[in-house]
Amino acid sequence: MLYSGKSILDIANANNFAIPAFNISDWAMFTGVMDISEEKAAPVIIAIHPDEVSHITTDLIPAMHARAHRSSVPVAIHWDHGGSFEEMIRAIEAGFTSVMIDASLKPFDENVAITRKVVEAAHAVGVPVEGELGTIGANDSYGEAGAKEIIYTDPQDAVRFVEETGVDSLAIAIGTSHGLYPADKNPELRHDLLEQIKAAVHIPLVLHGGSANPDSELSRAVGLGINKINISSDIKVAYHDRMREIMGSDSRLREPNAIQPEPIKALKVTAAQKIDLFGAAGKAGLY
Ligand SMILES: [Zn+2]
Repeated sequence: MLYSGKSILDIANANNFAIPAFNISDWAMFTGVMDISEEKAAPVIIAIHPDEVSHITTDLIPAMHARAHRSSVPVAIHWDHGGSFEEMIRAIEAGFTSVMIDASLKPFDENVAITRKVVEAAHAVGVPVEGELGTIGANDSYGEAGAKEIIYTDPQDAVRFVEETGVDSLAIAIGTSHGLYPADKNPELRHDLLEQIKAAVHIPLVLHGGSANPDSELSRAVGLGINKINISSDIKVAYHDRMREIMGSDSRLREPNAIQPEPIKALKVTAAQKIDLFGAAGKAGLY
């Protein structure tokens, strides 16, 4: 079943769990994420970042629709970190059922103006929008460019932002960073802030940079109202670490169908752990 970002997240919000948004960059990763979500009877969001879009192209989106339509679990296809109005129109045209406009590095009023413009266009064709307020940190060059420091989301600003833009879900900064944390950095989430924001805005809240955060912190965040957690680095590390082992084990290997199954198994183990942690296992039955 193919769902919009709103129809998939509203049920998570009403039932107090989080849906993993797994970033995928190739077809094998996509089918691995779909297979494990079906095995766990878990709703899933397929997230594709602009760098990933340029790698796989939007030609793959109709094939994802086909897979979603015959799936036993709810699936939304989400454009992650849209950078401009034009990019969001491209996403809608390509068949994404959910988009994120990220103008969070711009001043508040500019962020509101761009996000509202995207919301007006996307809602006209039934596509829901995720906005972002505050600055999620970046641990490496794959994160939000220029965002070294975390700027925590202010609850009162969040209320204004949601009212003025009409977003369907909101990514907030409560202490996570994109990418993997260096050994000397210990991420600590501001659960108090999350509680205040959720009490004030009520809509589904989104946590970016969810890889490598301690499990206990993430499950507490889910309990306090996070309904979507983006997972990119963790599944990619599992996939490619295993791929390096496989490739290193036999220099004659060349066929993708001989190389990819083991890395996909490793990706599925990591994804399954996130699905369980976020309380999403078995929740397909609610849809
Ligand atoms: Zn992100």
